[in-house]
Amino acid sequence: TIIKVAMATCSIAAGAKNIMDSLINEIDKHNLENVIVIKTGCMGYCYAEPTVEVSINGKEDVVFGYVDEDSARNIVQNYIKNGEEIEGVISNKDSKQMKIVLRNCGSIDPENIDEYIAVDGYEALGKALFRMGDDGVIDEIKKSGLRGRGGGGFPTGLKWEYARKNKADQKYVICNADEGDPGAFMDRSILEGDPHSIVEAMAICGYAIGASEGKVYIRAEYPLAIKRLQKAIKDAREYGLLGKDIMGSGFDFDIDIKYGAGAFVCGEETALIHSIEGERGEPTTKPPFPAESGLWGKPTNVNNVETFANIPAILLNGGDWFNKIGTERSKGTKVFALAGKINNVGLIEVPMGTTLREVIFDIGGGIVNNKRFKAVQTGGPSGGCLTEIDLDTPIDFENLIQRGSMMGSGGMIVMDEEDCMPSVAKFYLEFIEDESCGKCTPCRIGTKRLYEILEKVTTGRAAMEDLDQLRVLSDVIKDTALCGLGQTAPNPILSTLSTFWDEYEDHVKYGK
Ligand code: SF4
Repeated sequence: TIIKVAMATCSIAAGAKNIMDSLINEIDKHNLENVIVIKTGCMGYCYAEPTVEVSINGKEDVVFGYVDEDSARNIVQNYIKNGEEIEGVISNKDSKQMKIVLRNCGSIDPENIDEYIAVDGYEALGKALFRMGDDGVIDEIKKSGLRGRGGGGFPTGLKWEYARKNKADQKYVICNADEGDPGAFMDRSILEGDPHSIVEAMAICGYAIGASEGKVYIRAEYPLAIKRLQKAIKDAREYGLLGKDIMGSGFDFDIDIKYGAGAFVCGEETALIHSIEGERGEPTTKPPFPAESGLWGKPTNVNNVETFANIPAILLNGGDWFNKIGTERSKGTKVFALAGKINNVGLIEVPMGTTLREVIFDIGGGIVNNKRFKAVQTGGPSGGCLTEIDLDTPIDFENLIQRGSMMGSGGMIVMDEEDCMPSVAKFYLEFIEDESCGKCTPCRIGTKRLYEILEKVTTGRAAMEDLDQLRVLSDVIKDTALCGLGQTAPNPILSTLSTFWDEYEDHVKYGK
């Protein structure tokens, strides 16, 4: 019998450490020698933390939620020892989810390299080094159709190919773990739950493009993810899976960690590179792209955490396998962090092409207190609001853009009938105004003016001309800001203006 206790940031905050101690004490008390307790990363049921999964031979695995010390005792004594059915089960596995990126999150101990190896960990790296060759790896990634999960959706295989073609004495691989969208916690959860998959994928990327150094740029506010990543890097070095002459192949690759101070703009790859170089985290125009001239002016490949987490699975199962999952132009799965007025706040992974309705109502359990669904913001502050008419839209890169939003990195914030949409737009503008790096005028000054107008709107002091001004200024900022942060900053305004015009009008008309 194996008891898995989720020990991610969300679980620990909800008291999972005490639950683990209670479970161990109870097992000792009953002398249950065949019961093992292990800690894992997030299982995805953040709404029901602390969570505990129990696997008993011959029985279906079950997950218990909202576990306290009494229910921990009940699990050991009655469910495991006496074989009784007890209350508190929140899930047998979800059928609508498909776990590729999160394959090990919530199922192995992230701090134990042997557990990662036991589930075929580092086998993809061995396959790349000894059987595929650098060309073969890039061909396989291209064949898979994998696109960058950080928001841009650029084909990963092509990106690697550009970096490989640029000859240089030194190249770099960067993992962008500077997750900053409000409500997003996908990358943190992957790093906390399966750090070796990122280490392995970065080494594979280094081999494919001809780089010997990797950097993980991670925000310092993620202490548990950093701790587990540090341990993964150290253990991989000790096992000869990182460092000099990996697995005796003659290939050298090592990784170090750079801490970000939490600036949202440092998620943009040129700003991120400047920050690693010790400069101000400000974006620069592209071209040149990092694949040509990146860190210290050398060819550099930047991918985000989720993109990397797909790599070992693709190499092991083949590009064709991955290519068959998803929609015509968006392959594989997508991890989403569900937040806001949704019952099952948490981390999920679904095949591309799953509808918003399935995500919000089937997996997410619908709206809190049975209120009416009003909108969902996808793509973070750069995205837009989707409404009831979009619920049956299959989620993929193109469909979301067509509907006035975007995939972004995977944050989904759900709004109910009581939410005021101009206030939602104001929330995002306040965030963006705060996070603007100040380098270019349209974003530095323009977002401030947008915020001021929204403040007037939501406090009932605006006139109809202010609404016209909102639209005009939004269009100007979109067209003239230097980087993606500014160019997409007006999106929450534009999407709510077009879908919830009546709410803006009501604020003006009735002065509320
Ligand atoms: Fe900085 Fe904003 Fe200009 Fe981007 S758009 S460079 S974040 S001021």
